[in-house]
Amino acid sequence: RKGSVVITGASSGLGLATAKALAESGKWHVIMACRDFLKAEKAAKSVGMAKENYTIMHLDLASLESVRQFIDNFKRSGRPLDVLVCNAAVYQPTAREPSFTAEGFELSVGTNHLGHFLLSRLLLDEMKQSDYPSKRLIIVGSITGNTNTLAGNVPPKANLGDLRGLQGGLNGLNSSPMIDGADFDGAKAYKDSKVCNMLTMQEFHRRYHEDTGITFASLYPGCIATTALFREHIPLFRLLFPPFQKFVTKGFVSEEEAGKRLAQVVSDPSLTKSGVYWSWNKASASFQNQLSQEASDADKARKVWEISEKLVGLS
Ligand code: NDP
Repeated sequence: RKGSVVITGASSGLGLATAKALAESGKWHVIMACRDFLKAEKAAKSVGMAKENYTIMHLDLASLESVRQFIDNFKRSGRPLDVLVCNAAVYQPTAREPSFTAEGFELSVGTNHLGHFLLSRLLLDEMKQSDYPSKRLIIVGSITGNTNTLAGNVPPKANLGDLRGLQGGLNGLNSSPMIDGADFDGAKAYKDSKVCNMLTMQEFHRRYHEDTGITFASLYPGCIATTALFREHIPLFRLLFPPFQKFVTKGFVSEEEAGKRLAQVVSDPSLTKSGVYWSWNKASASFQNQLSQEASDADKARKVWEISEKLVGLS
């Protein structure tokens, strides 16, 4: 049978390119988990995905209620879950004030980390029940959360500190909206959320890989400077960033190429190693990359996991 893969945020950028690549392979049915049904439908059509290769299901990661509703709908669909790709993200580099999810968590960490945390925890049981030979749970990471790289050293750097803001619920009332308890900084909140994504993947691996055989992986697909992720950035940045990445850092990768890379992590028989953070070299060959000290800190991963469980109501 065809594999059944859920991709969050498949209505644009990397998620859409990955959905297209998998749908075209003929080996996958793609469940596009998106907050805007009409946009997702138009996006799927615009890249020429054939109707029988995808299903759109509503998911707003900025609402835990919506995450639970999605799980119910997915279960009712009767489809198996073979691979889950946590891809959706928001990035608010120019926001002066924080905004918040339905439950009152700062929006970037609330969406990118906490929404996906609840989703992946609840879908793990679905995955366990699938008889697919190579089950995978993938959480998209980023170089920007990795302070062992040049890009990860552009200020403001990711830093989760002692997690006091996360512990306090990131609500901006009796706690800071930032994980480390500092003043709000939208660019940093995004980077922090990506560190949480990479820590969560590794904690999943430690807790569940041996028992379930599921492959847990993260990746940095390259700098896809053209996606809507940068929609909130100032116009001059949006104009100069793609050529800067193309000609100066040479880290630029097209949406199509990035989609093929993520599609490899979903289905390539050689990428089954668990607990790994994949990157690609200039010749577009995958390799197992190093994470920064903070993004590979096992003690921090456990603490983020435990606090996140409380915040999303799992413990
Ligand atoms: P896009 O902005 O193009 O795509 C983000 C997707 O997430 C969109 O489909 C968006 O939906 C969706 N989304 C945002 N908020 C929510 C929500 N509350 N609920 C459900 N879906 C939501 O960005 P990219 O494709 O660039 O980003 C995809 C991933 O790649 C992210 O995890 C990002 O961190 C990562 N990444 C990107 C890099 C880059 O250079 N662009 C580099 C490294 C990693 P909608 O269409 O409705 O807005």
